[in-house]
Amino acid sequence: MPIEVTAYKRLVDELHAAHAVLVAVSKTKPAADVEALYALGQRDFGENYVQELVAKQALLPAAIRWHFIGHLQSNKIKMIAPFVHLIHGVDSLRLLEAIDKEGRKIGRRINCLLQVHIAQEDTKYGFDGTEVIDAASFVFSENKFPNVQLCGLMGMASFTENSAQVKKEFEALRSCFDTIRMRFPNQPFNMLSMGMSGDYKIALECGSNMIRIGSMLFGVRS
Ligand SMILES: *Cc1c(COP(=O)(O)O)cnc(C)c1O
Repeated sequence: MPIEVTAYKRLVDELHAAHAVLVAVSKTKPAADVEALYALGQRDFGENYVQELVAKQALLPAAIRWHFIGHLQSNKIKMIAPFVHLIHGVDSLRLLEAIDKEGRKIGRRINCLLQVHIAQEDTKYGFDGTEVIDAASFVFSENKFPNVQLCGLMGMASFTENSAQVKKEFEALRSCFDTIRMRFPNQPFNMLSMGMSGDYKIALECGSNMIRIGSMLFGVRS
């Protein structure tokens, strides 16, 4: 399947105006598709399976910034720790602690986002709104995890046609993000990863500065 060049160029222009980062989600797609988008200038790519990410990283240009956007198991942290640019889905302090430990071993500070559960479906991982504010406050005030850098929040809205519902969920995430930023204005806590192919426009309206787009760029996944 060819990549969607026109859609990509339009998206880049749109995001430039919004000062948002595009993470191209290449999960299930061949390395050749990543290379095709790379050739157009794309550098941030996202994967949600550790094995697939590791395999592609080995094949593809070193200048790619790899984002891990899936659910990370503690025993797999070491496979991505040496190179991962940003881990989006940190859903417990226990996982954050394990990432910190791995970072210390390899002498690297690993960028992380805390995942917030904003959707109605109970299949999606993450902290709830008050928990995430407590978790971030704990990390920043105790300074317990020197080998992780908490860079912001990530969330996934409900999979629904109801855009008012999606907007409400993104606004809730934005509100948690703002609260943490206000409490810790000196921390480099400034990434709000929300929005996918179906809802990124709403996410941008709600203050997203990082969107994760797969099918719109690479075509539908089988
Ligand atoms: C697959 C995936 C995306 C991209 O989804 P599309 O609808 O194909 O744009 C974004 N975020 C996460 C966490 C994903 O797993």
